[in-house]
Amino acid sequence: MNSLLFGLKLSKLRAPAFVFLLVFALLIPVQILPEKALLLFERLFNGGGWLQITIVSLYASILMYNMQFRERRAKWRERSWLFFACFFYFQLILGISADSLFLLSGKLHIPIPAIIIAGPVFRFSSWFMIILFISTIIFTGPAWCSHLCYFGAFDSLSSHKSTKNERAGSIVSGKKMRIITKFSILLILTGTALVLRIVNGSNNLATLLAVLFGMIGIGIILTVSRRSGSMHHCTLYCPVGTIVNYAKYVSPFRFEINSKCTACCSCISKCRYMALSAESVKRNKIEDTCTYCGDCLTSCKHNALQYRFFRLSPEGAERLWLVLTITIHAVFVAVARV
Ligand code: SF4
Ligand code: SF4
Ligand code: SF4
Repeated sequence: MNSLLFGLKLSKLRAPAFVFLLVFALLIPVQILPEKALLLFERLFNGGGWLQITIVSLYASILMYNMQFRERRAKWRERSWLFFACFFYFQLILGISADSLFLLSGKLHIPIPAIIIAGPVFRFSSWFMIILFISTIIFTGPAWCSHLCYFGAFDSLSSHKSTKNERAGSIVSGKKMRIITKFSILLILTGTALVLRIVNGSNNLATLLAVLFGMIGIGIILTVSRRSGSMHHCTLYCPVGTIVNYAKYVSPFRFEINSKCTACCSCISKCRYMALSAESVKRNKIEDTCTYCGDCLTSCKHNALQYRFFRLSPEGAERLWLVLTITIHAVFVAVARV
């Protein structure tokens, strides 16, 4: 059935309606349970939380509607991810410069993903973010690194701005060397946080090191990712990305190349996470850096790229992954603040 209602395909309205209800339902406890209002609009005016829940649920359903169409998905993903990241930092700026109501807890920390790991190791507290992070991995695999993180959207944007026609490969050649580099950075980060904890290092020193780590990351985004057209910050430098690359296998979702692949290599240039190469395509194996973003789907004329979730059809698995990912993304838009 392809009938239209206000230009919308009726057959495509079921999933967005479901996402609207799911997001709304998930945000109700956030509105009514906490003693101190968590939703920003509720902090601004009495009853505003309900308005915010309605707007965010509508936003999620619009995303779901458009992202069902593969040809629209890459654009909508990039825009919504960037919107979330900008909204997150906008609130932080307002929280610092105008009023603490724009901050979640009032406790400031350096807003870079590495703090999700280093923070709890150093302070032996702030486990909430770790629990949240692991939960998203269980539900959506690596969607943290394609829809949910407040930082990676800038690496995506920068790599997109590359002026090169051809996407360059990784600056570190060889898969083995890339893995060694990624895990070395993860080890240095956690080792430093642990040493600081053991020697009772000062908060100032920890903050200084976190700022330095963040500045190097921004430098990589602005230079290497921009020049190469590939997301070097996310696929090589960020320790949270390294964890996501491997921890994602605890989720039952998979993104894979099926037996219809002709090794034509058309999909390779679409992947900014460097998860596709001539070699990986030949082996019918997508690299661990894949975030299931789906940007490559339209480039394959043979329908050889697909999602998998237990015994669901590839289309069903894809829809389910989108529903879960967009729902979590929308909930993050509503509540995620420093
Ligand atoms: S790799 Fe790091 S910066 Fe990139 S999206 Fe993942 S957590 Fe965020
Ligand atoms: S575009 Fe499709 S057929 Fe061609 S290499 Fe990629 S997955 Fe295989
Ligand atoms: S292989 Fe496809 S789904 Fe995986 S990261 Fe690359 S573009 Fe996204």
